[in-house]
Amino acid sequence: MLKTIGCGQLRSADAGREVVLAGWVHRRRDHGGLIFVDLRDRDGLVQVVVDPASAPDSHPVAGMLRSEWVVQVTGTVSERPEGSRNPDLATGDVEVEAAEVRVLAESRTPPFYVNEDVEVDELLRLRYRYIDLRRPQMARVLALRHRVVKFIRDFLDARDFLEVETPILIKSTPEGARDYIVPSRVHPGSFYALPQSPQQLKQLLMAAGVERYFQIARCFRDEDLRADRQPEHTQLDLEMSFVERDDVLALIEELFTSLVAEVTPGRKLISPFPRLTHAEAMATYGTDKPDLRFGMPIADLSAAAADSGFRVFSAAIESGGVVRGLAAPGQGAMPRRRLDELVDLARARGAAGLVWMGLPDGVDPAGLTPEQVRSPAAKFLSAGEVRAIASATGAGAGDLVLIVAGPAGSTAAALGQLRTEMGRRLGLADPDMVAFAFVYDFPLFERDDESGGWTAAHHAFTMPKAGHAPAIESDPGSVLADSYDLVANGYEMASGSIRVHERGLQERILRVLGYTDEQIDQRFGQLLGAFEYGTPPHGGIAPGIDRLVMVLAGLESIRDTIAFPKTQSAVDPLFGAPGPVEDRHLGELGLRIV
Ligand code: ASP
Repeated sequence: MLKTIGCGQLRSADAGREVVLAGWVHRRRDHGGLIFVDLRDRDGLVQVVVDPASAPDSHPVAGMLRSEWVVQVTGTVSERPEGSRNPDLATGDVEVEAAEVRVLAESRTPPFYVNEDVEVDELLRLRYRYIDLRRPQMARVLALRHRVVKFIRDFLDARDFLEVETPILIKSTPEGARDYIVPSRVHPGSFYALPQSPQQLKQLLMAAGVERYFQIARCFRDEDLRADRQPEHTQLDLEMSFVERDDVLALIEELFTSLVAEVTPGRKLISPFPRLTHAEAMATYGTDKPDLRFGMPIADLSAAAADSGFRVFSAAIESGGVVRGLAAPGQGAMPRRRLDELVDLARARGAAGLVWMGLPDGVDPAGLTPEQVRSPAAKFLSAGEVRAIASATGAGAGDLVLIVAGPAGSTAAALGQLRTEMGRRLGLADPDMVAFAFVYDFPLFERDDESGGWTAAHHAFTMPKAGHAPAIESDPGSVLADSYDLVANGYEMASGSIRVHERGLQERILRVLGYTDEQIDQRFGQLLGAFEYGTPPHGGIAPGIDRLVMVLAGLESIRDTIAFPKTQSAVDPLFGAPGPVEDRHLGELGLRIV
């Protein structure tokens, strides 16, 4: 080895020790005769002192060093004199007196400095990812990710799970996105699809008797990228035979509880993880991935509003809709401009409008009159309505009530967004908390806005909830699924379900999803075939690793958790992928670009 110890490992106890260090020049300072070099490697930084008196040959070498040069330093560890110690640095009590400095590699002036904690354009960071990853905050995330995955492997290994690899070149396994396809040279005109997930493969492993499977699996989904999506992502893919929903949830709760305690011990959890049905989550938080780090629940005001003289309310109820609202603490006097922003936010989520009602300070809401509240709707509301609204939302003196009236779906979406926004503005979410929760009993099918047909809310292989199968054809929209999500801090962390394991039921579901019998046979024949040879009841789940690391590290973007991610337009700026291929290659594949 060209080094005997990591730079960041040196402590007072090492004083007097001869060491050989190797790493990058983080910073160099010339102080008259003495040259100070902060030397950095994976383990951290240490100060190296090059004294012309004790290292006459190496002093001129040290004088040439520039940022990001790679050097080897041989020297002696010594305690820093009192007064020049640096308590902010793990190695701040010591320095290394250099006897020899050797340049191992030079560096051009880097496009950005590793030693500055400044915002760098993300495209530049990705273009020079190998420099970006030298930044200590990035190196920490890579290390955290390693520990997360290692913990998961050890945890599941101890519980008799087998890690099994499944193919990347396969056939379409739909998860609601487009497939990435790979042309076959040996079979011109035929294509592999990259798996959107190993879903069918893990089910086949259950048919194969594996019973407890997992894989740190790469999934490929060609979809329009959002802030927290990537064309390829990694998930802990997991499947178990002979289980019911609560068996899977108990395992996942234990896994995540012990994972957080081990790898991010400062983070708080809600224990046990709250469990909400999909309907409860939508009604109370306006979303199926609620941020439970704070309360501010949405209240149903329909009863209070049904006979209202305010037409916005009564008309919504008459046409089968709802009136719902929430109370934002201490915001009763919010300036008009800020209120208008909230109105715009509600409209952007599909609400026709937003009714706000500011409660005065110092007045007991139980004795409130319309004249006392600050609201464009005040003159249409009775004292009884104003009091009922305050009481149902739990609003106190000085609070702001935000009310949306209309169809249940858009009302939930708007209020969910308003709740998130108010939580953000008021800083209600404890940044140290990872508020895991389970949401279950999702619908089996959803309307596809484009085709008008039905799509799978989770995926096509999800078991209907007990007793719901008879309505699959007659009333698909009413059928609930035996499916579940793990959510945390407003993010979906995992989805899973108990699966169909019987051919007839699987075919019925696929037909509702619009597949013809021929397509069913062609695309799902392998799974349906396995169902005819004794496939056990089974279920599973798949937590996303990128997002998990993002939440645990307190980051905003999953790109910061991936060594070599793609941009939001699916480009890898370092390799310049995707890129053209030579005509010769296209010819071999029987392809022509038109
Ligand atoms: N295959 C599913 C997904 O990738 C997860 C699961 O149902 O286990 O979303």
